[in-house]
Amino acid sequence: MGPPRVRLAPSPTGYFHVGTARTALFNWLFARRHGGIFLLRIEDTDTERNREEWVDGIISALAWLGMAPDEGPSRQSERMERYGVALDALWEAGLLYGCDCTREQVVERTKDRPTPGYDGHCRTRRLPREGNALRFRVPSEGETVVHDIVRGVVTFRHDAMEDFVVARSNGEPLFVLANCVDDRDMQITHVIRGEELLPSAPKGILIWRALDAAAEGEAGWGEATALPAWAHLPTLVNEQRKKLSKRRDPVAVESYRDQGYLPEAMRNYLALLGWSPPAGEEKVPVATMIETFALEDVNHSPAFFDIKKMAHMNGEYIRDLPIDEFVDRARPWLEPAAEAAAGRWAPQSMPLPPWRPERYDGAVFRRMAPLVQERVTTMGEIPAMVDFLFLDTPAMDEQSWEKAVRRDDGAVALLRSAIDAYSSCRWDAGSLREATVAVGEAAGRKLAKAQAPIRVAVTGRTVGPPLFESLEELGRERVVGRLQASLDRAGESVAAAPAGGQAGGAVGGAVGGNPGPE
Ligand code: GLU
Repeated sequence: MGPPRVRLAPSPTGYFHVGTARTALFNWLFARRHGGIFLLRIEDTDTERNREEWVDGIISALAWLGMAPDEGPSRQSERMERYGVALDALWEAGLLYGCDCTREQVVERTKDRPTPGYDGHCRTRRLPREGNALRFRVPSEGETVVHDIVRGVVTFRHDAMEDFVVARSNGEPLFVLANCVDDRDMQITHVIRGEELLPSAPKGILIWRALDAAAEGEAGWGEATALPAWAHLPTLVNEQRKKLSKRRDPVAVESYRDQGYLPEAMRNYLALLGWSPPAGEEKVPVATMIETFALEDVNHSPAFFDIKKMAHMNGEYIRDLPIDEFVDRARPWLEPAAEAAAGRWAPQSMPLPPWRPERYDGAVFRRMAPLVQERVTTMGEIPAMVDFLFLDTPAMDEQSWEKAVRRDDGAVALLRSAIDAYSSCRWDAGSLREATVAVGEAAGRKLAKAQAPIRVAVTGRTVGPPLFESLEELGRERVVGRLQASLDRAGESVAAAPAGGQAGGAVGGAVGGNPGPE
């Protein structure tokens, strides 16, 4: 046998689902492991539900995840004629029959039966092919066995299978037919896909064998071909162990990309959904995944798509980046407009950074970057970590204010002493720390308790990069101005301070005329 050929066969009906990404990954890993070919096939026969933008989404999501296909994309919509030839062959072999039953009629006739599905009403009616739906004559006896690498031997008894539809009354082929014809024509050796498609595997096998038989007759069909091997991958479930749903769960890969998940981290996390590397470690370089991936090791129990775990892993990957790469890769979130203007990718669904773009200073971010890198789990969290550096007046997070200033009786006095100390101390992180320790001691506080109101006053939040490096970067004037503005906000009027809450406006008065603590 030659190298394996595998495929991803998505229908372009929505955002790129994490489940599809996991399926793509397992196909891709399998192909890479065995020197095979990974194809992309767009199953777009359902013209009402398909949209071109979803096709673009599939292609760009795969490229982003580093799994661009080796062949394709091919499109089913361009192969309609071929499905017509297959239908001809099956019809001529007597394996199909026309059916004009409506769904309602079938439901009415079968409502008291133990087995659901079509009741074979039109089997012997000899309706013409034109204008009728076409059903496949499932043998009434025997069974079709799916030898599945993940799920083992799965047997489907024919008496429990209905005569399924392979073409609509307008002649349009159904998924199960087009899918089978394509897998044959594209010489697919392994069908690796989601578990929800397992029930359609016996139908595919029946069609496949029927086409083989037709090949031996004179129906104008191609040659008999070996059946592919099957591997149905475990369903992805949410925290409540329910199947992931488009409506309920955040499943769009595009949105994770926008939030600032790194593709290598996401790929690593997705690999763990049904598979684990032999050594049991979780963070695995892609080369190791490729070396060790085996479908035989895929587990069949449902896999929990744990966003918290994925975020944690993403944070680890972010911290592993060389600092210059971190800075470089942060750009779409820090300067989205400039990136988009330069024709590069920028997140679509994230709020813009709160500062005016011309106020952003890459050199400032570069200096702070090592401290930021330690503290984010997604790239999308970066702007909120550094916005206080690029805004005249940082937006005040009300909860932080409430907690660190309003409900802390000593906060106002502490901010006043900080203004005093910072007005004259040396301006570097070490000296600022010493000055703050002293301010804290005088107020009977440990450093952490002394820092909290200062941090909120200066940055607008209780969390952020380390305080003293942030103060050093902001500079004396802005820091003292913001502390002053916070005193104003707290309802304190400091005699010599000019009116107006604007941080910049308060600076002169605060530095020059501060009367000091009473
Ligand atoms: N087009 C099918 C789907 O989107 C997948 C078919 C397959 O992988 O065999 O569910």
